[in-house]
Amino acid sequence: MADYSLWVLEYASQTRVPSGDILYGSYAGPPRRMPYCYVVLRSKNHVAMVDVGYNNADHGRSLALSYGVEHWHDPRRVLALCGLRPEDVGTVFITHAHFDHFGNVEAFPRAHFYIAEQEIEKSIWALALPERLKFLATAIDPGDLAKGAELARQGRLTLIKQDMTDILPGIDLHIAPDTHSFASLWVELRNDRKRPSQDVWVLAGDLVYAYENLGGEGAGVGNGKPYLPIGFAIGSQTNLLLATEDMLKAVGHERRRVVPVHEARLKEVFPSRAKEAGLVISEICLADGARSRLI
Ligand SMILES: [Zn+2]
Repeated sequence: MADYSLWVLEYASQTRVPSGDILYGSYAGPPRRMPYCYVVLRSKNHVAMVDVGYNNADHGRSLALSYGVEHWHDPRRVLALCGLRPEDVGTVFITHAHFDHFGNVEAFPRAHFYIAEQEIEKSIWALALPERLKFLATAIDPGDLAKGAELARQGRLTLIKQDMTDILPGIDLHIAPDTHSFASLWVELRNDRKRPSQDVWVLAGDLVYAYENLGGEGAGVGNGKPYLPIGFAIGSQTNLLLATEDMLKAVGHERRRVVPVHEARLKEVFPSRAKEAGLVISEICLADGARSRLI
């Protein structure tokens, strides 16, 4: 009895990401293609998302250009891949305040947003530091924080201080402080509420970039290697490894159930359909009675 359909939607991509950003210490590895994605969770009566991408305007656009991100698509076109419009989205969980996750809240006019309180506080703190400490504000667009303040004024922003259970039925939020960012969130979907330990999915945000971070070459079960943390982090590698352990524990160590949105091989693990470069839908699972969006 799956309650939610889950789709990962690629809205842009970057062709040559340094391997050392993805895998800690892997400076000599070949660069990799990195898709930029957000996630849609759809039940019978609600649509939620994990992250919103960026808006390809103003400072968000300059940041994207500086990283070499290409093939950007508007959320209206991207959400159409699974038969939805931005106005249909009621809830958004923002995993962290980097521009490619928090950079387009204005495109979702009816949504209520959740993000960790510490992520917002420390992002503002980092922006106010002297230029020589600017690494701590990497990938943060001050405009996104201003838009967050406007959401708060409208009563559409909840700042969370600790893990939360059943924020929507079957959906839990977990905070991983001092990791990739100041306080990244990961989302746990218990997709069969009659059997809560079954059919669990984890949406990892940027706590995981590639399957190697989870201790494997791919998503297959068994023969795991030690976890290898992501390279790009402002926080602690210890905390990244412990968050990886928590995420994998939540899914009974079944690696394919931890979904890394920047992993180009996601399309090989789950049925997918590419419309054009930077516009791809991967179908992670379908709710009972829901129809596939791949045909
Ligand atoms: Zn990202």
